[in-house]
Amino acid sequence: VRRNPAEPEFHQAVTEVLDTLAPVIARHPEYAEAKLLERICEPERQIIFRVPWVDDQGTVQINRAFRVEYNSALGPYKGGLRFHPSVNLGVVKFLGFEQIFKNALSGLPIGGGKGGADFDPKGRSDNEIMRFCQSFMTELYRHIGEYTDVPAGDIGVGAREVGYLFGQYKRITNRYESGVLTGKGLGWGGARVRKEATGYGAVYFAEEMLATQGRSLEGQQVVVSGSGNVAIYAMEKVHQLGGRVVACSDSSGYVYDPAGIDLELLRQIKEVERGRIGLYAERKRSGTDFVDGGSIWSVPCQVALPCATQNELDESAARQLVQSGVLAVVEGANMPCTPEAVRNFREAGVLFGPGKAANAGGVATSALEMQQNASRDSWSFEYSEQRLRDIMIDIHRSCDETAREYGQPGDYVLGANVTGFCRVADAMLAFGVI
Ligand code: NDP
Repeated sequence: VRRNPAEPEFHQAVTEVLDTLAPVIARHPEYAEAKLLERICEPERQIIFRVPWVDDQGTVQINRAFRVEYNSALGPYKGGLRFHPSVNLGVVKFLGFEQIFKNALSGLPIGGGKGGADFDPKGRSDNEIMRFCQSFMTELYRHIGEYTDVPAGDIGVGAREVGYLFGQYKRITNRYESGVLTGKGLGWGGARVRKEATGYGAVYFAEEMLATQGRSLEGQQVVVSGSGNVAIYAMEKVHQLGGRVVACSDSSGYVYDPAGIDLELLRQIKEVERGRIGLYAERKRSGTDFVDGGSIWSVPCQVALPCATQNELDESAARQLVQSGVLAVVEGANMPCTPEAVRNFREAGVLFGPGKAANAGGVATSALEMQQNASRDSWSFEYSEQRLRDIMIDIHRSCDETAREYGQPGDYVLGANVTGFCRVADAMLAFGVI
């Protein structure tokens, strides 16, 4: 805390991991001798830069941007870029730290990193977004590359932003280096299923967890928070697997639709018009409510998928969910559940899938995008989805086996942290003190 003041999210993420690693250190004194815990907590490189740009009124705007290149033991730094007013160094470090273990869990050769800016894209015109992205890349380009650091999207950064970023990178470097960014459009080096991957992957993970208790998503009532990239495709996969999503949200409130969220309408509002969630209730038949500013976790469900942002599900929300009989909580977002909420779920015997494991499908499919770019290939939707499903099943199996090995069956938090940490620690050990 003294070395990293005023970074509460970073402290929370590190504490959560370190809390589960004591038995690993007891088994592997060589990790402690090599000071691997201390080393892994310290980013390899942190870049902070100014992003000046001109808005549509001709006014100069200044934002602050970050790229934290956290750990490259397993491959080039890999992780998204977030554009949101809440972005600061502590938030980027928490996300980068989580990313190290998530990427290790994917089993693919990628290190961990994260970046972003305190830029608020809400209400900005296309031209403003483009100018911001161009200015952002004018500095970032010198730090990234197919073999060094490969950014992708996150909150506020989707295919449109990746397009502007890639265009500027290509222009400055005079290189068509497809593998420098992932989440690209399908016509220019993007991969099928990347857009769907995080949401689909989280639902596959939920299905695997439920299967350990002889259950499935079929017929289950599901609540998904958020209505962005992760949330929309989580909802799509839940519906495909026979569950019913009855509520979703954005930062203004939530909608409740007992008949099941109409995804076509939701996508029109969110992906095409970039509108607020309240519009859904306005346009939908009666029986649908919009609850302005309400907590989505008051809606009873058997499966809860928090897919919006960090610390969106606190202790009182967890209690409500437990009381309403929730069976499984699976994190589509990064660290959406507070530590108190997680404790409540575990004490109540609710299956809990931490984001590191459950939302790793997005970055895994980004690594598959890099593979396709490197071989100048393009895979079919079916093949890509099968690869994603196999990866999620494998992540679930590794977490489950590790939890058993350490005498805590069903503890996916321990399973994910220990599996991810050991893979990175072994590589770091092999490289010596660097
Ligand atoms: P998007 O920007 O597409 O969507 C974010 C959604 O969350 C929006 O509906 C947004 O609403 C809502 N939201 C944001 N802040 C709040 C808040 N304080 N309260 C309620 N709702 C809020 O982002 P993504 O879907 O890409 O990311 C969602 C989460 O998933 C993040 O934690 C991200 O780090 C994580 N993640 C994303 C991956 C990806 O592939 N995209 C991969 C792995 C993890 P509004 O529009 O009103 O702000």
